[in-house]
Amino acid sequence: MNDEQEQVILAVHVRGLDGMCAGCRAWWSRLTPYPCWQVDWATSRQARTITAWFLGGVR
Ligand SMILES: [Zn+2]
Repeated sequence: MNDEQEQVILAVHVRGLDGMCAGCRAWWSRLTPYPCWQVDWATSRQARTITAWFLGGVR
């Protein structure tokens, strides 16, 4: 897994008009309440990456 995949996930897994995840429905025909676990995963990964980058820049 890399940063690009996280961005793709965040770009595809967006909230649909009915509050369900549009990405899960488009990719897997699955109705998942937004945010789905993939969005949770990508955002937490991204937060860690940003934190690591920030800490690295301070030192
Ligand atoms: Zn999703």
